[in-house]
Amino acid sequence: MLPFIDLKAQQKLLRDDIEARLQAVLDHGAYIMGPEVKELEAELSKWAQAKHVISCSSGTDALILALLGKKLRPGQGVICPSFTFAATAESLAVLGASPVFADVDPNSFNLDARNLSAALQAGIDSGLDVVGIMPVGLFGMPADMTAIGDFARKHGLWVIDDAAQSFGARLHDTPVGNLADVTCTSFFPAKPLGCYGDGGALFTNDDEVAEIAISCRVHGMGKTKYHNDRIGMTARLDTMQAAVLLSKLSIFKDELAARQKVADQYESLLSQSVATPRLNDGASSAWAQYTIKLPQNCDRQKIQDHLSAKGVPTMIYYPIPMHKQAPYQRYPVANGALAITDSLCDIVLALPMHPYLAEEQVEHVARTLKEAL
Ligand SMILES: *Cc1c(COP(=O)(O)O)cnc(C)c1O
Repeated sequence: MLPFIDLKAQQKLLRDDIEARLQAVLDHGAYIMGPEVKELEAELSKWAQAKHVISCSSGTDALILALLGKKLRPGQGVICPSFTFAATAESLAVLGASPVFADVDPNSFNLDARNLSAALQAGIDSGLDVVGIMPVGLFGMPADMTAIGDFARKHGLWVIDDAAQSFGARLHDTPVGNLADVTCTSFFPAKPLGCYGDGGALFTNDDEVAEIAISCRVHGMGKTKYHNDRIGMTARLDTMQAAVLLSKLSIFKDELAARQKVADQYESLLSQSVATPRLNDGASSAWAQYTIKLPQNCDRQKIQDHLSAKGVPTMIYYPIPMHKQAPYQRYPVANGALAITDSLCDIVLALPMHPYLAEEQVEHVARTLKEAL
């Protein structure tokens, strides 16, 4: 079976460097908040052109720290997509606030700015104080942050970018990390920039958000660890994970270029047969996933089975939208229904995507998919 995401090929390239960096951590012994954590935050800050970078324990915790930074409270609502990974809406619900689900654009898979008015109204009709928008850069491409930002300013809302999949991408020459009031990413191993466990980071130019997030990362600490100014959590990034990320960051740019090359090859081989993903004007993608849309009437399971029999793994991101998951059914939905989201769940298919896919492998995937169709 072809690997869906190939972490082994990457490790082969970096193994000596990673071992040396881990050995350095074993030698100095600062397992929590060691020098590698500071070094990584400085490197990421350069990468994203963001004033503050706060590393943390996961992408989900980055979202929660960002929301604590924005002082999200019960009774408040935040507009977000339903066509996304659970953590987006979960970070809101776990703080007692309410997601307000909006529909996505059928081509970009991202929050549709044209649906924001309806979402805002649905939140207000449910008695919520709607305070923010949380777009997602799904599958690697940032959402239409210009239109979303315009809407947010007009209605006095903040924007937190869930960039767990899109870190590394750019929009009109601005890197993800600097497209919203706060940006959150994940270093889960399968993300474009992943460590060897759980990890994440948030990016912001807002001094107050940074101060709160830094404090909440360590139990709401104040002047010292034993002054507790607020209620926080344990949400630090391990020094060992920072060491792994420093190594991986050294080849991240080349990997992004390699992912784009794979996407270009898929595009040229498949665009006549299925709906291939297209980049918005001025946007690049970190290509966390390569997601196609199958024709409405075809049997997706049969196509997956055929591909699997020929050694080609596929995935469905996401089979069930968040607003239809049991714990989330009570939250408001723009216009009461999300037609595009529902239809995408039935027709999307993610093909193998990673920087180490050989041309022959991409050809094999494309050929096998065309056979299956
Ligand atoms: C992976 C992911 C997260 C959560 O990241 P973790 O590090 O797994 O907590 C949040 N949002 C999206 C869109 C993701 O893909």
